Amino acid sequence: MKRADAYDVLFEPVRIGPVTARNRFYQVPHCNGMGHLRPRAEAALRGMKAEGGWGVVCNQETEIHPTSDLAPYAEGRLWDDRDVPALRLMTEAVHRHGSLAGIELAHNGNHAPNLLTRARALAPVDTILEAGFAPQARAMDKQDLRNLRHWHRNAARRARDAGFDIIYVYAGHYMTVAHQFLLPQYNDRSDEYGGSLENRVRLTRELLEDTLDVVGGESAVAFRFAIDEMLGADAMQAEEEGRAVVELLAELPDLWDVNVAGWKNDSQTTRFQAEDSYQTRYLEFVKKITSKPVVGVGRFTSPDTMAALVRRGVLDLIGAARPSIADPFLPKKIEEGRIDEIRECIGCNICVSADMQGVPIRCTQNPTMGEEWRRGWHPEEIESTADEQAALVVGSGPAGLECAMQLARRGCHVTLAEAGRELGGRVRREAGLTGLSAWVRVMDYRLNDLRQRTNVDIFLDSELGAEDVLELGVPNVFVATGSRWRRDGRGRTARHGIEIAADATILTPDDIMDGTQPVPGPLVIYDDEHGYLAGVLAEQLAGSGHSITFVTTAHLVSPFTEFTLEQERVQKSLIEKGVTIVTAQAVERIEKGVCHLACVYSGRQTRLEATTTLLVTQRERVLSLYDALLGQAGLSHLELIGDATGPGLIADAVYSGHKAARDFGRDRDAVEMDFFRRETTALVG
Ligand code: ADP
Ligand code: SF4
Repeated sequence: MKRADAYDVLFEPVRIGPVTARNRFYQVPHCNGMGHLRPRAEAALRGMKAEGGWGVVCNQETEIHPTSDLAPYAEGRLWDDRDVPALRLMTEAVHRHGSLAGIELAHNGNHAPNLLTRARALAPVDTILEAGFAPQARAMDKQDLRNLRHWHRNAARRARDAGFDIIYVYAGHYMTVAHQFLLPQYNDRSDEYGGSLENRVRLTRELLEDTLDVVGGESAVAFRFAIDEMLGADAMQAEEEGRAVVELLAELPDLWDVNVAGWKNDSQTTRFQAEDSYQTRYLEFVKKITSKPVVGVGRFTSPDTMAALVRRGVLDLIGAARPSIADPFLPKKIEEGRIDEIRECIGCNICVSADMQGVPIRCTQNPTMGEEWRRGWHPEEIESTADEQAALVVGSGPAGLECAMQLARRGCHVTLAEAGRELGGRVRREAGLTGLSAWVRVMDYRLNDLRQRTNVDIFLDSELGAEDVLELGVPNVFVATGSRWRRDGRGRTARHGIEIAADATILTPDDIMDGTQPVPGPLVIYDDEHGYLAGVLAEQLAGSGHSITFVTTAHLVSPFTEFTLEQERVQKSLIEKGVTIVTAQAVERIEKGVCHLACVYSGRQTRLEATTTLLVTQRERVLSLYDALLGQAGLSHLELIGDATGPGLIADAVYSGHKAARDFGRDRDAVEMDFFRRETTALVG
């Protein structure tokens, strides 16, 4: 297929200092939980983006010295020459596809807890640490500043030797010492590095000049700069000091990579920021000040938006982290006119949650993300089955849809049966809740694919029992029957359930998603699961006129959402909507009209009026069909997938469906061995 002429502009080369990007698609630095601990996985992931058409592919924040030690997180590391070969794996993987490789050098200042090295953290002034509970950071003296510049120069030299085409100076996300020096709230020094903006910019300027001095003419020098803190007049604002920084440094870097601070603002979820391109209004003026190319991000997935931003003179390069994670082949699909095949990011930040937990990246939309090296998965390619096989997939939630789609891609004749009147399972149901509408893309992408295939039959309103399945005569059966929320309160606190009177009114999340409205009167939402759902339900119901008390055994609302950078917004939103929040309390007993609570620390008992109690505690697997099929003659392959194997995130269900389809027909021992594939430490050095 030919792409629309309107998108030609996206495929123009862009000169960045001494190097040229082959097009305008630019994967900005993003963490992936691989870094220095898993360099082969890192290289394979970045190489995949290059193969998918990203003209520039960057790595992630890369520690330049042991005083910037982010352990236990696996970021990039370039402390000395021994780190060069691992990084070279990545540049080679990216160059193989004609793309440029970028590296984000970072000294993390008071953001580096130095838990591994036990070095004292460095900062503009004596200060409590930004991240973790390590000793306080100490103010950098003149020798420290000279050292920092020396380390940065060395790192730049090593980065060039590792083959990087673009080398960053990084002042963003509050995560680097350069950024901390820029901001008055971190820097009230009285020497030439504090006070006036010129003084606070001094360190950044020196790092840029040093880097240009070391690698200029060979590699481009990029500046990643947070132009606005989204905190109003008390902080850096794009139109005030943000603009002034751009004016002060306008022509110094070869590239401006501009975003907002902190990370929770830069990577907002669709739950709290539905609009893509929300960042561009902060940086619209940058190109008027500098002649150097500008890259910006905004969860861009629409080629129309991208082309318009270039035409309007806002951006030269279309930056992306999450859209490139959800679809590493996004540029290729635009190039080849396959727009409807783009797997659009849903803005859920499950990718971020992996990094926050210190494990390799995963993605709700793209189950191959993070598995490029370990399992050899390719987002666009899957091996055909040896012969045309027939497969039945029961259940059309995220696991069933993904499994059916991948089996069909492999050449199987697929029958997909769904008990309900609509496809999509929990994705459709959850996407109907406040703030989660973008999640429907998980279903839309897969249905769009399935509906175009001639080897797929889809049946709705078809609740299958074991006899129905056997009657169909399809020998390969994948059971994706999902899970239901428990009604008995069983969960992390009440391991055997809560004592509930027969006349008490209890609801589950499934009831709400099925359209049941709580009866008028006080409503208690009890969260003993600690994921995102109870908070979402509270937001949804807060507008319905109920007086709501959110009771949780946790110490804050929806603790999991700390990993998705949403927690503060969740709690703020509930407070603003008038929801009463009761933390560290367990529901022990429910009678008609009353919940009996116990403090999780002291056991002290209290009562709470509750006409209805909505229990969000644990899910129950739907196993009846699978159990009935076990041991039946006539089936050559029977496999349970998705939430029915263990309820989790939508990402887990998609992954499970994908894995089952990939592994179908493979030797079982080989499948098991995949779990053991890892990068081990070599006993050298
Ligand atoms: P997952 O997250 O694992 O994909 P979901 O709960 O989203 O699971 O989806 C499970 C789907 O399976 C639901 O849409 C449900 O209606 C369907 N389902 C459950 N039991 C049967 C059955 N016996 N026959 C057909 N469909 C079923
Ligand atoms: Fe987008 Fe969610 Fe995938 Fe992250 S995990 S890239 S936010 S779809």
